[in-house]
Amino acid sequence: LQRNPGETEFHQAVHEVLDSLGPVVSKHPEYTDAAVIRRLCEPERQIIFRVPWVDDSGAVQINRGFRVEFNSALGPYKGGLRFHPSVYLGIVKFLGFEQIFKNALTGMPIGGGKGGSDFDPRGRSDGEVMRFCQSFMTELYRHLGEHTDVPAGDTGVGRRELGYLFGQYKRITNRYESGVLTGKGLSWGGSQVRREATGYGVVFFVDEILRAGGDSFDGKRVVVSGAGNVAIYAVEKVHELGGTVVACSDSSGYVVDEKGIDLDLLKDVKESRRGRIEDYAQARGEHAQYVAGRSVWDVPCDIALPCATQNELDHDAAATLVRNGCRIVAEGANMPTTPDAVRLLAEAGVAFAPGKAANAGGVATSALEMQQNASRDSWSFELTEERLAAIMRGIHERCLVTADEYGAPGNYVAGANIAGFIQVADAMLALGLV
Ligand code: NDP
Repeated sequence: LQRNPGETEFHQAVHEVLDSLGPVVSKHPEYTDAAVIRRLCEPERQIIFRVPWVDDSGAVQINRGFRVEFNSALGPYKGGLRFHPSVYLGIVKFLGFEQIFKNALTGMPIGGGKGGSDFDPRGRSDGEVMRFCQSFMTELYRHLGEHTDVPAGDTGVGRRELGYLFGQYKRITNRYESGVLTGKGLSWGGSQVRREATGYGVVFFVDEILRAGGDSFDGKRVVVSGAGNVAIYAVEKVHELGGTVVACSDSSGYVVDEKGIDLDLLKDVKESRRGRIEDYAQARGEHAQYVAGRSVWDVPCDIALPCATQNELDHDAAATLVRNGCRIVAEGANMPTTPDAVRLLAEAGVAFAPGKAANAGGVATSALEMQQNASRDSWSFELTEERLAAIMRGIHERCLVTADEYGAPGNYVAGANIAGFIQVADAMLALGLV
């Protein structure tokens, strides 16, 4: 706490992992002897920089850019860039810390990092977004490389932003280094299924939870928060597997659509028109009801998928979900559930899948994109989706086996934290004090 004052989200993420590690350190004193946990909590490198750019009115704007290169024991730093006004060092460090364990759980050779800026792309013209991205990359490029640090998208950073970032990297370095960024467009080195991967992956994970209990998505009512990249493709896969998503949201409010969210309309409003969820409700007419300024967790469901942002599902929201009969909560977003909400869900017997396991499909598919870039190959949608599904099944299995082994059967939080930790800790021990 004293070393990192004011970084509340980072403290929360560290506590959540350390809470699970008691049984591990008592079984493996070598981790304590080599100060592995203290080393893990200190990023290998933190870069903070000025991002000057000119807006459409000709005024100079200044934002702050971040890249936290947290841990490279397993591979090059890997993790997205977030552009949102709430971004500060504490957010980037929490996301980077989570990323270390998530990436380890995928079984792919990738380390953990995260970055971003307090720039808000909402309401900015394409020209403004391009000038901002070019300025951001003009500093960041010197820290990146396919064997060094490989960013991707996150909140506020989609194909448009990644295109401008990659274009500037290519221009400055005079290298067509496809493997330096993931989430690229299909015509310039991207992978099939990357756009869908995080949302699909969460739903594959929930499908495994349901199967383990002899159940399926058939007939299930599902509520998804957010209406961005993760949320949209979670909705798509739930519908494919026989469930119905009856509500989704944005930061202004939520929409309830008892016939099931109309995916084509949602994509048109959010991806093509960059509109609001209220626009969806208006276009959908009598089927949909828009509720401003309230929590989407008020809507009764069997399965809840928080896919918007950190700490969006608090104790009261969890109590409402439990009262309404919700049986499964799986995190599409990073750390969307507050610690007291996680406790309440556990006490109520609700299956809870933490983000570092449930939303790992995005980064896993990024690693598949790096594989394709390295071999100058391009896989089909079907093959890539099958690889993603197999990775998610593997993560689910690993969480359960590890939770069992360390005396917490059925506890996905303990399973994910311990399995991810052991993999990184063993690599750190092998590499010596670096
Ligand atoms: P997007 O920017 O595409 O979408 C975010 C969505 O969440 C928007 O609809 C936004 O609405 C909404 N939102 C933000 N704050 C709130 C709030 N307080 N209440 C309700 N809705 C809110 O981001 P992504 O979908 O890419 O990312 C969402 C989450 O998933 C983040 O936590 C991210 O770190 C995580 N994640 C993303 C991955 C990816 O591959 N994209 C991979 C793994 C995790 P508005 O437009 O009003 O802000």
